[in-house]
Amino acid sequence: MKIAILPGDGIGTEIVAEAVKVLQVLDLKAETETALVGGAAYEAHGHPLPEGTLKLAKAADAILFGAVGDWKFDKLERALRPEQAILGLRKQLGLFANFRPALCYPQLTHASSLKPELVAGLDILIIRELTGDIYFGQPRGRRTAVDGHFPGAEEAFDTMRYSRPEIERIAHVAFQAARKRSNKVTSVDKANVLETFQFWKDVVTEVHAAHYADVELQHMYVDNAAMQLVKAPKAFDVVFTGNMFGDILSDEAAMLTGSIGMLPSASLDKNNKGLYEPSHGSAPDIAGKGVANPLATILSLAMMLRFTLGQPEAAARVEAAVDRVLTAGLRTGDIWSEGTQQNTRRVGTAEMGDAVVAALKND
Ligand code: NAD
Repeated sequence: MKIAILPGDGIGTEIVAEAVKVLQVLDLKAETETALVGGAAYEAHGHPLPEGTLKLAKAADAILFGAVGDWKFDKLERALRPEQAILGLRKQLGLFANFRPALCYPQLTHASSLKPELVAGLDILIIRELTGDIYFGQPRGRRTAVDGHFPGAEEAFDTMRYSRPEIERIAHVAFQAARKRSNKVTSVDKANVLETFQFWKDVVTEVHAAHYADVELQHMYVDNAAMQLVKAPKAFDVVFTGNMFGDILSDEAAMLTGSIGMLPSASLDKNNKGLYEPSHGSAPDIAGKGVANPLATILSLAMMLRFTLGQPEAAARVEAAVDRVLTAGLRTGDIWSEGTQQNTRRVGTAEMGDAVVAALKND
C-alpha cells in the first residue's frame, strides 16, 4: 500500500501531521511519501500541482490531503492559484464521487448552532458529484456582452453542464450507498429553473426505476433542501447532488455536527482509489497557531482505511479512539465554549492528535 501525503497550506500541515501520527501507530506497513501541493508548491516550483506531485498521486493507492489556499495568492491568475491543485487532482484522477458523512457526536450536540434535540444522533451522508457541473463546464470567461440587460458592458460567464453518463454513475453510487444505510435517497436539484437539473432529475428517476426500486427516492429543490437541512436534518439519510449544490449544502451540514473541523470526506474514482481530506479549507485565520481541530483529518484517514485500504477494523479503532477522546472532554477551540460543558478541557492541535494516539495504544 502506498499513501501519498499532501499537507498543502495553512492548517493543512498541522492537521495532516496529527493524522500521520495516527497512521504510524496503526503499524499497517503502508509506504508513505510526502509532496508539496497548493500555495506551498507554487512558491517552491511555480505551480500548485507540480508534475512530481501529480505523478506521486497517480501512483499511490490513496492520498491524504490537508487543505490548500491562502489570501496572499488571491491576485494570481486563476490557473496558478492553490485551489486549482485540488480541482486538478479530482479531474486528473477521475475522483467523481465525494462522500461527506455528517455525524453529530453526542458529546458535541451543544456545539451545533441548532437546538440539541434537532441534531442529537444525526447521521446523514452527503454524496456530491465532483468532476462536472459549473465548476468545470466550458466555455467560461470574461467578455463584452452582446445582449442581455447591458449590451456592450463587461461581463463574466460560466457553463453549467452534466452528461448522462456523469449523472448515471453518481446516481449508482448514491443508491448503492443508501442500500448499506436506511435505503433512502434525496436527490437535490433545481429542475424548476435549470435545464441541467431537469436532465439530472430525469436521469436519476430512470436509474432508480431500472435498478433501485427497493430504495426510497425523493427529489427536492436545492433551496428547500437548504431549509430542511436546518429545520429537520434527521429526516434525511443520503443526500445526493451536483458539484456546486453539494459544495454549499455540505458546509451547511458541517454546522449541524458542531464544527467543520469534525467533517471528513472521501473522493473516490470508479475503482475506489481515493483522496481523503477534511471538508474544510486551509483556515489562514488560525494557521500556525496550533489550535486547528485535527479530527476531521483523522476521521478522513479512517475513511481511507475503510474504503481504499480494506482495513475496516483499523478504521473502527480510529473512530472509537476519537469518540473516547471526546468523551474524556478534550476540545479544540472550534468545539469548545466557555461554561457550557463541565469536565471539558480546551486543547491545541498536537494535544488532540496525541490523545487519539494514546487512546489507540490503550484500546
Ligand atoms: P475554511 O474552511 O478554511 O475556514 C472557514 C472557517 O472555519 C474559518 O473561521 C476557520 O478558522 C474555521 N476552520 C476551518 N477548519 C478548521 C479546523 N480544522 N479547526 C478549527 N477551525 C476551522 O474556509 P475559507 O476561510 O472560506 O477558506 C480559506 C482558504 O481555504 C481559501 O483559500 C479557500 O479557497 C481554501 N479552501 C480550500 C479547500 C480545500 O483545500 N479542499 C476547501 C475549502 C476552502
